Amino acid sequence: MPEFNSDVLVVGGGPAGSSAATWAARSGLSVILIDKEVFPRDKPCGDGLTPRAIHELLALGLGEWLETRPKNLGLRAAGFGQELLLPWDGPSLPRYGSAAPRIELDNRILQVARDAGVTVHDGVAATDVSLDGDVITAVHAQREDESITYRSKHVIIADGVRSQLGRKLKREWHRDTAYGVAARAYITSERSDDEWISSHLELRGSQNEVLSGYGWIFPLGNGEVNIGVGTLATQKRPADLNLRALMSQYTEIRREEWKLSGDLRLPWSAMLPMGGAVSGIAGSNFMFIGDAAGCVNPLNGEGIDYGLETGRLAAQMLASETDFTHAWPAELQAHYGYAFSIARRLAGYLTVPRLLPTLGPIGMRSRSLMKVALRVMGNLVTEEDKDLVARVWRGAGKVSTAFDQRKPFS
Ligand SMILES: Cc1cc2nc3c(=O)[nH]c(=O)nc-3n(C[C@H](O)[C@H](O)[C@H](O)COP(=O)(O)OP(=O)(O)OC[C@H]3O[C@@H](n4cnc5c(N)ncnc54)[C@H](O)[C@@H]3O)c2cc1C
Repeated sequence: MPEFNSDVLVVGGGPAGSSAATWAARSGLSVILIDKEVFPRDKPCGDGLTPRAIHELLALGLGEWLETRPKNLGLRAAGFGQELLLPWDGPSLPRYGSAAPRIELDNRILQVARDAGVTVHDGVAATDVSLDGDVITAVHAQREDESITYRSKHVIIADGVRSQLGRKLKREWHRDTAYGVAARAYITSERSDDEWISSHLELRGSQNEVLSGYGWIFPLGNGEVNIGVGTLATQKRPADLNLRALMSQYTEIRREEWKLSGDLRLPWSAMLPMGGAVSGIAGSNFMFIGDAAGCVNPLNGEGIDYGLETGRLAAQMLASETDFTHAWPAELQAHYGYAFSIARRLAGYLTVPRLLPTLGPIGMRSRSLMKVALRVMGNLVTEEDKDLVARVWRGAGKVSTAFDQRKPFS
């Protein structure tokens, strides 16, 4: 049975895993990354890159590649009889976003990891771990019929929403806190070069009821748009929906406006863990990052930037801590605790029937309010920001945290 040794093993080669592997390799560690899929691989996603994701991609060295991608200026928010153009806002971040099909984006970031010296084994699925207390002494994996053992000092787990290793390591996803369900597809559009990403905040179900979610159209600049729908749910109020039917209905409503032609391509749905509603995310020598740690914005479902950031933070922690059990949740709480606490509380309220139809029209009437909403929904408040919106958002987060029965990442 083949056996491999390294300083760091990263499980999962999405944005989170590739980012962690790159930064760990750049700090001089020997790194192996395994992924159960063979790259390039697809993944259900809206493909939207917020300025915060752009910031991380630039830091990884993907600036030249980003120049070949379309740039978007912000969000066209529509619904309840209004349409607003809301430029990306946030004093310490780039003023543009982008969109890139995940089959291409994730392959690019993985290549950055390879270029940094990471050994990539794709087509290899982690199946189990050997433990000594809460120290992972080996990760067991499978490539077709071959069993492989990986031994490393540290393990970074970035195996996504379902996290197979999470099940072995007592990680728990708390679905009494708001989570997302969403579906995406691709379709040809004459407006593929539109400079704004679009969200329709008045998403209606089969009974014409307003759903606690939104429809999106993200131009890809390649003759196609990414089109999708997503809604919020909790254990108490599950989303009882046929997502694909909803996506088809949404597509037909938008067909003329977006000059869409042909059928939906590659429809795919998935759940989204949100707001750090995951506990058991670290042990002595391992850390969960990205979706596996519930790092998705509860107000808009974006998680690529959190994946990239938590990958970088985890790699930094390898150098500064010898035991991650408490240090890693504390680090995530310090970075995201307040924002996740207030955002997931608001997301939970949005699942209450009739709240969105009542508040939506009021919110959409105010451009200033929606500008603020885009900034907080787009995760565009950084720790360095000292302006009024940033201070109020952090203050609201602090108050919300005080009332949390279970804080993010605990
Ligand atoms: C429909 C939908 C739309 C979305 N739209 C957006 C958007 O527009 N913008 C945005 O920022 N975010 C969006 N998100 C969220 C975003 O896709 C995730 O937050 C992001 O992919 C998280 O990255 P990750 O690296 O943690 O996980 P992933 O990207 O899921 O990567 C996990 C990797 O682990 C591998 N893996 C899994 N199990 C194993 C195993 N046992 N062994 C080895 N490898 C394994 C998988 O093959 C995969 O490559 C959307 C999500 C959905 C479902």
